[in-house]
Amino acid sequence: MERIKCLIIGSGPAGYTAAIYAARATLSPVVYEGLQPGGQLTTTSTVENFPGYPDGVSGDDLMNDLRTQAERFGTDIRYGTVTEVDFSKAPYIVRIDDGSEVEADTVIISTGASAKYLGLDDEKKYAGRGVSACATCDGFFYRKKVVAVVGGGDTACEEAMYLSGLASKVYLVVRKTWLRASQIMQDRVLNNPKIEVLFGCNVFGLTGDGKVQGMKVVRNAGTDSEERFEREIDGFFLAIGHKPNADVFAKWLDLDESGYIMTLDGTPKTKIPGVFAAGDVADPRYRQAITAAASGCKAAIEAERYLNEL
Ligand code: NDP
Repeated sequence: MERIKCLIIGSGPAGYTAAIYAARATLSPVVYEGLQPGGQLTTTSTVENFPGYPDGVSGDDLMNDLRTQAERFGTDIRYGTVTEVDFSKAPYIVRIDDGSEVEADTVIISTGASAKYLGLDDEKKYAGRGVSACATCDGFFYRKKVVAVVGGGDTACEEAMYLSGLASKVYLVVRKTWLRASQIMQDRVLNNPKIEVLFGCNVFGLTGDGKVQGMKVVRNAGTDSEERFEREIDGFFLAIGHKPNADVFAKWLDLDESGYIMTLDGTPKTKIPGVFAAGDVADPRYRQAITAAASGCKAAIEAERYLNEL
């Protein structure tokens, strides 16, 4: 069986940054790209908050640059998704979706998280053209425009507050008649004159010619008081939670109640020696490209130290 010194699972900013550091440390890293090569950033338009790009950079270009940089130092980047791991003893066994298996002395898990979507066909139709799951990434494009945020948790409230600083109006679409968010966030949202909360509402469609221009809403669906209406919007933001891509590792690692991999003492170390978690799969809090990249760097340094100590 092929033996790999440093196996990196996932190809977002965390995975590629880990690869750059591991390759420069002569660990001959192998990256399995996963289902979405380049990760979540490939679904955003322009990234304006990644340091080093004063004019912004497209998500695709940024990820291609990171990939090229990783390859420059000899990273072996492979197409494939990890379907199963055995962390019972080192070297760890990792199975790929083509049926092959490899052995790895160290594993860096950087499989990211996926934003949850409602599941509407229109979300796909308008992807990158008005539909977004990240207000911090894309809010800037909606200055003085009208946007909607779906969700009633802390993320939705934070995103609505953030967008209210840019947009002329924000609809917060909440399926229940109450907000799940913390009291302080509820108070902020409810007292913000730019935010109109649509309680008891679900969005069932989007309209627009080539880009989002409106949303179709149903209030009190399935009851006698059901009512349907449309609102004109320019941007549609999902904030109904993220799902970390950690299912494959759940048997071996500790996950928190939302499914994020738990790491030790503020490092990317997991409870299994030589297995590290970096980026969004282990970060319910910041979820930024730059923080993911930083944790990928830390994971590679930890992997190098671990191998040196062996
Ligand atoms: P949550 O799970 O807390 O909230 C998700 C929200 O989306 C809920 O209001 C839920 O509705 C709604 N929702 C889920 N699915 C659908 C759907 N299909 N259609 C319509 N609405 C839907 O996720 P968050 O991302 O907001 O927060 C995750 C965790 O992170 C929480 O513990 C939160 O407190 C924490 N957090 C903390 C922050 C802070 O402290 N500053 C900032 C952001 C998050 P319903 O209520 O009906 O289930």
